[in-house]
Amino acid sequence: MSICNYDLHTHSTASDGTMSPSALVQTAAQSGIEVLALTDHDTLSGIKEAKAVADEIGINLVPGVEISVTWNNKTIHIVGLHVNYESQILQDNLNKLRETRLWRAQEIGRKFAKHGIADAFEGAKALSNGNLISRTHFARFLVQQGFATGEKQVFKHFLVPGKPGYVQLEWAKLEDAVQWIVEAGGQAVLAHPGRYSFKRQDLRHLIHKFQNAGGCALEVISSSHTLEHQINIVKLAKEFNLLSSIGSDFHDAKKTWLKFGTLPRLPEDCVPIWKDWNYVKYTLK
Ligand code: AMP
Ligand code: MN
Ligand code: MN
Ligand code: MN
Repeated sequence: MSICNYDLHTHSTASDGTMSPSALVQTAAQSGIEVLALTDHDTLSGIKEAKAVADEIGINLVPGVEISVTWNNKTIHIVGLHVNYESQILQDNLNKLRETRLWRAQEIGRKFAKHGIADAFEGAKALSNGNLISRTHFARFLVQQGFATGEKQVFKHFLVPGKPGYVQLEWAKLEDAVQWIVEAGGQAVLAHPGRYSFKRQDLRHLIHKFQNAGGCALEVISSSHTLEHQINIVKLAKEFNLLSSIGSDFHDAKKTWLKFGTLPRLPEDCVPIWKDWNYVKYTLK
């Protein structure tokens, strides 16, 4: 087993990150990350570029994705690692999710228009690379337009259930998303389990369903986890005999609270998802 600095959950401009795949890979390498997974929301479109740069500069790139799922009326995220990014089944189903996203973005635009905020769809689309529109793009547009001081405020006041720009969506089914990842040769990880506002029993139920569907790991270390979350998720990983993963969920270099390459190490008593991976350490060129 290699002892590398891993970050197995990050975003680029292919979804709602602010760095291009190339810039992301370069920044990660400069920050001391040795194994980086690019896991954009519902798309694989950044992987080719990321892989080319990673090969050139000498950093290990894990092709990945973060799939949006609806389970028990809540949005859950499933990260796929080492997916074959040319897998037809995965690509076709991600295409469908992005079509649903496009419909939702138009709906959000209509709702904002009724609320006195004009051209939000066009504004959010212009901030995306045209491939995928996320609520994050709406948040950035509203900040630019002076409707809020930060993205968090936009989410709180406009983009969550009960607020004027919220549109209910049925994402992929848990079992389907895990299956697409497995069929694409990948490993499925339950992303940031600490973030879901489930009661303990519901979280255990989710993990049980996830594992039955073919999921193999929990994200133990995530920048959205408190230490309490982390301790709880480690216990659950042990109880369910699941592997453990680690990811920053990096989106934006301007968010100074999250610096690349500074995540805590996985606790010693976890079985890492990379236990059977074979990466070499590069010396940065
Ligand atoms: P979507 O998948 O389009 O519904 O958007 C979800 C994305 O919005 C997440 O991946 C986060 O990057 C971002 N997000 C969710 N909640 C917040 C929040 N409270 N503040 C800032 N960004 C958020
Ligand atoms: Mn995001
Ligand atoms: Mn997520
Ligand atoms: Mn993410």
